[in-house]
Amino acid sequence: MRGSGSSNAPIGALLAIAGQGAMGATAPPGTVPTALISRALGWANTYGVQMSPQPGTFVHAPLSLSPFPLSAAEFERARALAPLFNELVEAVAMDAEWLLGVLDATLESDPFTGRLARVLREARALGPEAQSLHLGIHRSDYMIDEPETADGFASPRLLQIELNTIASSFGCLSARISKMHAYLCATAPADIATVLDTQAAGELAAGAELPANAALELLPDALGAAHAAYVAQASTIAGSGDGVKGLNPATSPVALFVVQPGERNVADQRMLELALWERHGVETLRCTLAELAAGAELREGPGGPNGAPRPCLWMHGREVAVAYFRAGYGPGDYPTESEWAARLTVERSAAIKCPTVAYQLAGTKKVQQVLAEPNALEKFVKSREHADALRATFAGLFSLQTDAEFEHALRLTEANPEGYVLKPQREGGGNNLYGKEAASTLAQMKKGEREGYILMERIRPRSRRLALARDNAAVLSDAVCELGIFGTFLGGGGKAPLVNKAAGHLLRAKPVGTDEGGVAAGFAVLSSPLLEAGSVAHGAR
Ligand code: ADP
Ligand code: MG
Repeated sequence: MRGSGSSNAPIGALLAIAGQGAMGATAPPGTVPTALISRALGWANTYGVQMSPQPGTFVHAPLSLSPFPLSAAEFERARALAPLFNELVEAVAMDAEWLLGVLDATLESDPFTGRLARVLREARALGPEAQSLHLGIHRSDYMIDEPETADGFASPRLLQIELNTIASSFGCLSARISKMHAYLCATAPADIATVLDTQAAGELAAGAELPANAALELLPDALGAAHAAYVAQASTIAGSGDGVKGLNPATSPVALFVVQPGERNVADQRMLELALWERHGVETLRCTLAELAAGAELREGPGGPNGAPRPCLWMHGREVAVAYFRAGYGPGDYPTESEWAARLTVERSAAIKCPTVAYQLAGTKKVQQVLAEPNALEKFVKSREHADALRATFAGLFSLQTDAEFEHALRLTEANPEGYVLKPQREGGGNNLYGKEAASTLAQMKKGEREGYILMERIRPRSRRLALARDNAAVLSDAVCELGIFGTFLGGGGKAPLVNKAAGHLLRAKPVGTDEGGVAAGFAVLSSPLLEAGSVAHGAR
């Protein structure tokens, strides 16, 4: 997930391989029209579809020159699930006993999750939440399982890869990419047709839909709604002071973006920040966890639960209404105790958090695996229909906790090493193990290590032809895609949510044979969906 991560196989290298090696062998012959590359990259650079490999330097983000074919029905299904996943996260997060109980067994083998759980425990020990509203900007990632069969392809099946509940990124750049593809399809249809496969070109010519992507409106709107809710709470408190009514721009509350130092995916963040200003007049303060540790303080404000003071979060002389994390999801973000202390300060505060620590823990892979166990969803999802709809997207997920579970997982991977992915409790890309490496790592895994991993059935998406561009050059490759659906939620305290909706999408594509999927990590490119009617016969390319 995320906007950041280490790159040990940059896509430049992958694209070079795609041109010559295994992927090149399966890619149809042909080159990408130069005019299309320059038209696309001209658009991308003009509209900020960029990443920053080092501070002050911007290059176009890795992107595809054309949209990627995707089943219209599965796209709609994924969008419809967003509010249900939003509610599920809220319900799981509110049951801290259950959450901590599920994660308990993993804590020893996984000190990072253990430490997050400790922050949750410490915050709870200090009393009830100072802020009952929670802001979720989640992204549920899916692949469409469509394995090859003797007579074509199996029916497409939408399966969830993971649910990101912290630092879900690329919404803004993706919204731009959708517009870029619409522009290219309208103004350079002949060039686009040369880089699509025959079936996709035919569908595009016949008017297949390029769905609008509202992330650039709906993500800032969620932050804006949280800010407005905070200001409304504060202004209903009698005698609330200068800093809360939003009248004086020097003292009105801000949105705090907690970011990583040297973030590469900074344009995506800045676009969100600017849209929040333009659409809602909300100012943003950007800071790292280390800066937060040095500068954040809690000041008593009126109106806490049971007449207690409200612990308002202040940073650099400004009250913080919303604390939005684009950092804090991996151990590298907490090099010292100070960063952990800063996280606890935010957690304890009356600021609306995106996410709370409980939301973050609800998005761990262990929780994903446990929720896929029989009857687990029913504890949190009261509607049978909703539970069934959610469960239908769960791939096979296996615990390694007990001896029997471990033996079962071992047998599965030994019999079919390519059929599974071994996942540690990590976020940010580049952590999973695949194929024989997964099988041999699993075989050597000791008790005390196993609990920190889950095993997941490998999803087999269908590949399609795509032109992938990076570093001002493009190659044709067979590629597969991963769909992310953003969901925004503002609610809590058992009341009806103020916001609960699907909020745009992300489509990433990567050359066939590439296991990992991150864009910032150098594995994938940003793309957008070309919606295919479900009735299209499989097999015809
Ligand atoms: P992270 O938190 O690091 O993003 P993910 O679970 O999203 O972890 O896995 C990273 C990438 O690995 C995904 O983007 C996807 O490309 C690939 N991947 C993960 N799980 C599967 C799976 N079950 N089948 C196929 N590919 C997978
Ligand atoms: Mg991911």
